[in-house]
Amino acid sequence: MIDLHCHTLHSDGTDTPERLALLAEEAKLTALCLTDHDTLGGIPEFLAMQPQVKVRLLVGTELSCRFLGRSLHVLGLLVDPTDVRFQTRLDELRQRRDDRNLRMITRLGELGCPVTYEDVQAQAETPLISRVHFAKALAARGFVRRAPEAFERLIGDDCPGFVPREELSPVEATRWIREAGGVPVVAHPGRFAGGAFRWDEAMRDLQREGMEGLEAYYGEYRAAEQKYFVALGASLGMVVTGGSDYHGANKPGLRLGAGRGGLKVPDDLLDALERQQKGGTYR
Ligand code: AMP
Ligand code: MN
Ligand code: MN
Ligand code: MN
Repeated sequence: MIDLHCHTLHSDGTDTPERLALLAEEAKLTALCLTDHDTLGGIPEFLAMQPQVKVRLLVGTELSCRFLGRSLHVLGLLVDPTDVRFQTRLDELRQRRDDRNLRMITRLGELGCPVTYEDVQAQAETPLISRVHFAKALAARGFVRRAPEAFERLIGDDCPGFVPREELSPVEATRWIREAGGVPVVAHPGRFAGGAFRWDEAMRDLQREGMEGLEAYYGEYRAAEQKYFVALGASLGMVVTGGSDYHGANKPGLRLGAGRGGLKVPDDLLDALERQQKGGTYR
């Protein structure tokens, strides 16, 4: 089994890259792709673990783009970690994130929940600050009892204290990933929209905008969702990928490789992903 989606404390997870490599080895995975949000900051430490483990350690990242007025996550799997232009592009994304973070500080102050930038920074172990760290800072200051409540009342997508970031278009996100030698994959489409949503049409549009794969196996999917997205990927000729979206203690109950317990991402998906990578337009 493999896992192509997980986070460390270089974004909004709580484990080090070293620990993820060891956990993957313990779970007897054959490959693990690290996909922190907007950064490859954990990759050097992660790849340095390769001599100590049998599990193949692979490079990725997770970007956000704007689709149908909402945030759609895109995995950049197998990107080249030495690509300088891609690094510069990620720097720009993190700058936009910081701008957003500063505006959220102001907004939360206006809402009667004044946290400082230092409060939020104190909750993060690396320079990347996300809403997970805001939630912890709000709890530490006593504005909410526990971090999840911050997402319910203050900083969730539809809450008054949330400020969106300036996001990429799908065309930009897929071009950036492809130009860095990676494969752009729609992350957890079932979390973006489920039920009555016409994913067949939307996915075809995204495919025209450069998307080459979709995450059909996911730590938090129900069996019916997995079946639906595996079939959709096959019918559109897109690669199908899968991962747990492990975040350590920031997503309790979710395990690397196994998700909520029943996740099994087959090894042969990685072969197809690597074939797609070699056959891509820019490669
Ligand atoms: P950001 O990238 O800073 O906008 O933060 C997004 C991160 O916040 C996601 O990757 C999740 O880890 C977390 N998040 C967003 N919404 C929720 C929610 N409703 N409950 C818990 N965590 C959330
Ligand atoms: Mn996350
Ligand atoms: Mn995501
Ligand atoms: Mn993720």
